[in-house]
Amino acid sequence: MRIPDFHITNNWVQSRKGPKNKVDPSKPYAFLVENERTAEGKIEGVATIFLTNRECPFRCLMCDLWKNTTDETVPVGAIPGQIEFALERMPATKHIKLYNSGNFFDKKAIPVQDYDKIIDLIGGFDTVLIENHPKLINREVVQFRDKLKSNLQVAIGLETVHPDILPILNKQMTPDDFGSSVRFLKEHDIFSRAFILLGLPFLNERESVVWAKRSVEFAVDAGVECSVIIPTRPGNGAIDFLKQQGSFQSPKIKSLESVLEYGISFNKGRVFADLWDLEKFSECSECIGKRKERLNRMNVGQRIIPSVSCSCDIA
Ligand code: SF4
Ligand SMILES: [Zn+2]
Repeated sequence: MRIPDFHITNNWVQSRKGPKNKVDPSKPYAFLVENERTAEGKIEGVATIFLTNRECPFRCLMCDLWKNTTDETVPVGAIPGQIEFALERMPATKHIKLYNSGNFFDKKAIPVQDYDKIIDLIGGFDTVLIENHPKLINREVVQFRDKLKSNLQVAIGLETVHPDILPILNKQMTPDDFGSSVRFLKEHDIFSRAFILLGLPFLNERESVVWAKRSVEFAVDAGVECSVIIPTRPGNGAIDFLKQQGSFQSPKIKSLESVLEYGISFNKGRVFADLWDLEKFSECSECIGKRKERLNRMNVGQRIIPSVSCSCDIA
C-alpha cells in the first residue's frame, strides 16, 4: 500500500467516533483477574481494574478506549470508590493494573485529591501497573511511587517506530520521547511496559509484521522490561473508515504468532501477545483454538513452542 501524504487532525478522528457506552462513574466498567508471568518468572494472578473516568485528551487514530469514558471529570472520591468496589469482588492477588482508558497522571481523568486514598487502597500490592503518555511522565510519577512504596510500573503506548505511520496515528509523540520516558523511569527504578501495534494503516500484512518486530526491538533496546503486541482492531470509527477505503487490513493471527516468537527470541524482558478477541483475527475455525492456546502458552512460558500445522497454511 502507498503511504499517502495523510494529515490526521484531532477533529478528523473525533468526527468518526460513534456513541459511547453508558458508564457509571461509581463503578469501574470492568475488572478481572488473570494469570501472568511476572518479571521473576513466576505465574501469578494479576487483578486489572478498568476505571471509568473522563475521556483521554489525545485523539489517537487507532484508539477505541473512549467508548467507556465520561465527558466530564468524575467527582473526587469516585476513583477510590471504583477501586474499592472491584477489590471487594475479586480474589486477592499480589499484582494490580489500574487502566483508566487514558493516562493515570491526567488530572482531569484522576483528580489529584484522590491520590492519597488510591495509595491507601493499592499500597499493599507488590506491583502496581498504570498507563501513561510520555508527555505526562515526570517527577510526579516518582513522587507517587515514593508514597506508594509498591513496585510501580508504567505502560506506555509506543505503537510503532515507523517514521511515516507514527505521525499518522496522531499519538503526539516520537520514538525519542518514548525512549526518554523509559530512561527517566528506569533511573528512578520504575519499570516500563510498551504497547506495540500489529496492523498499521497504509501497510500490508508483511510490512506490518516487519514494523511490529522493529518496534519490539526498539522498545527492548530502549530498556522496557515488558512489551505487549496488540492487534489493531476496527470498531472506533477511524479505523473502520480506513478499512472501507482499502487503507487498513486487520492483522492475521499467524502474524501475531510470528511477532511474539521474534520478541521472545531476544530473551530480554517479557513479551506478550494480547489475546483479547483473537477469533476476529483468524478465518480458520480448524486451528484458531490451537493457535490461541499456543500463544497463551508462549505468553506464560516465554519460550517458543512448535508451531501449529493446518490445512490453511497452504491456502
Ligand atoms: S493516549 Fe492512549 S488512551 Fe489516549 S487516545 Fe491515545 S491510545 Fe487512546
Ligand atoms: Zn487453520
